[in-house]
Amino acid sequence: MALHINTPLLESRPLSLAAQRSVWIKLDALQPCGSFKLRGVGHACELHHARGARHFVSSSGGNAGLAVAYAGRRLGVPVTVVVPETTSAHARALLALEEAKVIVHGSAWHEANALAQTLVGEHDAFIHPFDDPLLWEGHASLIDEVAATGLRPDAVVLSVGGGGLLSGVVQGLKRNGWDDVPVMAVETDGAASFNAAVQADALVELERLDSIATSLGAKRVAEQALICHRTHPVQSHRVTDLQAVQACERFLHDHRVLVEPACGAALALAYAAEGLGEYRNVLVVVCGGATATLDQLRTWREALLPA
Ligand SMILES: *Cc1c(COP(=O)(O)O)cnc(C)c1O
Repeated sequence: MALHINTPLLESRPLSLAAQRSVWIKLDALQPCGSFKLRGVGHACELHHARGARHFVSSSGGNAGLAVAYAGRRLGVPVTVVVPETTSAHARALLALEEAKVIVHGSAWHEANALAQTLVGEHDAFIHPFDDPLLWEGHASLIDEVAATGLRPDAVVLSVGGGGLLSGVVQGLKRNGWDDVPVMAVETDGAASFNAAVQADALVELERLDSIATSLGAKRVAEQALICHRTHPVQSHRVTDLQAVQACERFLHDHRVLVEPACGAALALAYAAEGLGEYRNVLVVVCGGATATLDQLRTWREALLPA
C-alpha cells in the first residue's frame, strides 16, 4: 500500500463564489506529513527500500524533508536530514517528531546540502526535493485520483517551486489522456524561477530569493519543468507575498485548513478570479505545507501590509 493517502476532492463553495465558476480543491494539505510531497517522496522511498537502501538522506528543512522522515519511519529505514541554521525551531521539531536524525549545518542550504552528500553511503539513498523522475511518477497519482472520481477539470492551478509538482501533474494529465488540460503554474514574485525560465526559454538561475514562500525557493527549476512548458499548455503566473499570505488566511477561514504561503500562491490566483481566464471548471491543488503557524501568518501579513 502506498504511503500517501487518497485526499478529499471537493467543490469549494467559497472559492466558486469568489471566482464565479466551479472551483474544485484537491486537499493534499491533509496528507499525513502535511503536503503533497509524500506522493513522490513516498514512491521514491518505497522503491529505494525495495532495492535494499538502508538509510535515507535529505537536505530539506521543509516539506520534502518531512516527507522523507515520515516515509522512513513507516518503512523502518533510518533518516538523516541536514538543515541550515536558518531552519525554524518549529520545522526542526516536526522532523524530530518523525524520528529523523537532524543535523544543523551551515548558514545556507547549499552548505547543508554539501554535508548531506558526504553522508550518502553505498547502501543509502539521497532523496531530492523536486528533481527526480521517481518523484514526478509519484506526484502524478494526484491526477489519477481526480480522474477516478469522474471529474474532468478544464484547467489545473498549482504552485511551482523547483517544478516537481508541475512535472508530476503534467505526467498525470498525459497518462489520463488529458493532454489538452492546461496548467496554471503560480509563484511568488521573489521566487519566480519558473517564470524566469519560461521568459528566457532556458534554465535561469535567480541571483537571490526574496519571498516568505520558502517552499517555492528554488533558484533554478528542474529541466523537466521547462520540458513541461514546451510539451504541454502551461501558463506561468506570479502573485505577491501579500496576496499569498492573504489567500492562506482566507482559506483558513473558508475551509478551516492552515497552509503555507507556498500553497497560498495557487489559492491567491483562484480567489482573484481574473487570473483564471475563461475556464469554467477549475481544479486547484491545495499542496499544503506543514511549516507555517497561525502566529507566523499574522506576523507576515502585518509586516507586508502597507502602513
Ligand atoms: C515543495 C512545495 C511546493 C513546490 O513544489 P515543487 O515540486 O518544488 O515545485 C509548493 N508548496 C508546498 C507546500 C511545497 O511543500
